[in-house]
Amino acid sequence: MLDSQANVKPAIFEKSKQRPALILNADYRPLSYFPLSLWPWQEAIKAVYLKRVNVAAEYEEVVRSEKLTLPLPSVIVLKNYVVPTKTVPFTRATLFLRDEFTCQYCGYKGKDLTFDHVVPKSRGGKTRWDNVVAACQSCNLRKAAKTTSQAGFKLKKVPTKPSPEVLLNKGKKFPPSDMHKSWIDFLYFEKDFD
Ligand SMILES: [Zn+2]
Repeated sequence: MLDSQANVKPAIFEKSKQRPALILNADYRPLSYFPLSLWPWQEAIKAVYLKRVNVAAEYEEVVRSEKLTLPLPSVIVLKNYVVPTKTVPFTRATLFLRDEFTCQYCGYKGKDLTFDHVVPKSRGGKTRWDNVVAACQSCNLRKAAKTTSQAGFKLKKVPTKPSPEVLLNKGKKFPPSDMHKSWIDFLYFEKDFD
């Protein structure tokens, strides 16, 4: 660009700083929303160098090697489309996401949530999508080995296994706090950004 910025020497990237690249599928959608698909800068640079990705946006900083100077990519797009997975792994992250980081008994939202077996393990309750819910520590303690009715608790929602689409849409509601401004054009979060 021939503006005043053109004469400004780009800042050299400090390797101590994190500069991850948002990685998009060939259809320009993030590979995943939660966690948001990010690659460390080293991986991003390597993929650019190997021509496996196109660069959609860049940081202002550059990375220098002996032979070349490259702008650090901030958004990269896979050249080959990756078919999204049809199965949802049963993990802490996916379970919390299904329950939108909300205690399924009292509605508390927070980072210090735990898991609760709706039918307690001691009563044969299984560790499965339909029997484990996010619960705050106090509900978890109060419920202990009781059933929901014994504890006088009512579930906000009947727990079920979420579909990949449902989880993807929920993931959009929980963007990382340290988003780079160049990513926003490629994300469809239902949140407002400043
Ligand atoms: Zn609670």
